[in-house]
Amino acid sequence: MNTSHPRPFNIVLIGPPGSGKGTQAQLLEERFSLYHLSSGDIIRAIRSKAGTGDTLADEVRSRYDAGIPQPDQVIEELVKREIERLHRKTGFVFDAFPLSLPQAIALERMVQTFDMREPIAISIDVKRDEAVRRLTLRLYCPNDKLVFHPLDADYKGNHCHICGAELQHRSDDTPELAGKRFDTYEERIRVLKNFYKEHGRLLDVAGEQPIKNVFNDILRAIVPYL
Ligand SMILES: [Zn+2]
Repeated sequence: MNTSHPRPFNIVLIGPPGSGKGTQAQLLEERFSLYHLSSGDIIRAIRSKAGTGDTLADEVRSRYDAGIPQPDQVIEELVKREIERLHRKTGFVFDAFPLSLPQAIALERMVQTFDMREPIAISIDVKRDEAVRRLTLRLYCPNDKLVFHPLDADYKGNHCHICGAELQHRSDDTPELAGKRFDTYEERIRVLKNFYKEHGRLLDVAGEQPIKNVFNDILRAIVPYL
């Protein structure tokens, strides 16, 4: 380990839906005691504060409930709040942030502001066919709205781990819609990969292998940056 870096390190995980990105984020969080900062989680968390006098929370909820994506500036503000709250205590694994070039540039500004280490981007690469195949296998709990995947390391069969209900297939996990979701991400991913490549901080990892092997490849790739 390189002791000239006393500050915690930070990871940006890049990958399309079906790449197993969320699972790898969890594994990284556990291994390095990083804080898993998922833009989806912080949006849901702030949304629950709507009606308490937090005007940003009110705005986020009305867009969320109308199915309108949150603008870059709002996402940036929410991420900044989380970093401000935690940056001296821990490093981060950023999941579903950044999702655009303006967000990636904003993150570079934030790490400067908070005197954090520049994030290393890890791209989990999965071909379209495989991502679509994985997405169409997903199941969800009708009570908890949690998504389970037979390919996840902690998958325990056809029942919800929390409440025991029988898992169901989601009507939007058809090959057509899964393919569209993949295509939406492909362009974003290309832009983000170029950005981190230009900064000399992009690591590519093959995602079409068992979860444990993907994780081991990630560990090997980040060793020089630890
Ligand atoms: Zn459940």
